[in-house]
Amino acid sequence: MTFHIITIFPDIFNSYFKESIIKRAQEKKQISIKIYDLRNWASDRHRSVDDTPYGGGAGMVMKIEPLYKALKEIKGRKKNIKVILFSAKGKVWNQQLAQIYSNNKKAQDYILICGRYEGVDERLLNFIDEEISIGNYVLTGGEIPAMIFVDSLTRLLPGVLGNEESAIEESHSQPGILEYPHYTKPHCFSVGRKKYFVPEILLSGDHQKIKAWREKMSRRITNS
Ligand code: SAM
Repeated sequence: MTFHIITIFPDIFNSYFKESIIKRAQEKKQISIKIYDLRNWASDRHRSVDDTPYGGGAGMVMKIEPLYKALKEIKGRKKNIKVILFSAKGKVWNQQLAQIYSNNKKAQDYILICGRYEGVDERLLNFIDEEISIGNYVLTGGEIPAMIFVDSLTRLLPGVLGNEESAIEESHSQPGILEYPHYTKPHCFSVGRKKYFVPEILLSGDHQKIKAWREKMSRRITNS
């Protein structure tokens, strides 16, 4: 699976994609991430990719020509490639969508377009497959949504997480279910005279009882 990310701030991705699970997934060739600077497709000497909005109003709008040219060139002759535009107006991303996208049996590649300013010229919607929002709030740009998309999808790909990091029991892996609580050493954590203990059942060594306790402690969603 290859993620092609179009942005005007390519350096934003330098840190996040070079650490931890996403770094390992690239090293093991489970995914590949390619970052493209949209300004490479600008046609004027200032390499501009935005202009003032028709009808007036605040802010700038991303021009369609550089985005269209970038899409055309990156797509090339590839067939199995889906174009995603990040937008606060899009379909809201969640774990179920991440599961659907990661389960795609054909090695699906994605072109991810990171908007900036007031967003993109609306005519770009004729050339994309999906408009995705990562939540009902407005960010400055589509780069964080792109990282969220790549991360949430990659960790669900077969073999990316080890057993110790299994995604099966994680929150939202079944709709509306949140994972049980976790504890680690020390057994007793003290703040002044107040002591905070790990639940005794987790120290019992009785795996059936621990499983039952964890099932009981998994709870229905209350955060939306
Ligand atoms: N004027 C737009 C609006 O009101 O919907 C917001 C534009 S925002 C400042 C700039 C870019 O950030 C967007 O084009 C989009 O790519 C990205 N963005 C902002 N919020 C987002 C969200 N919740 N989900 C996905 N992308 C988002």
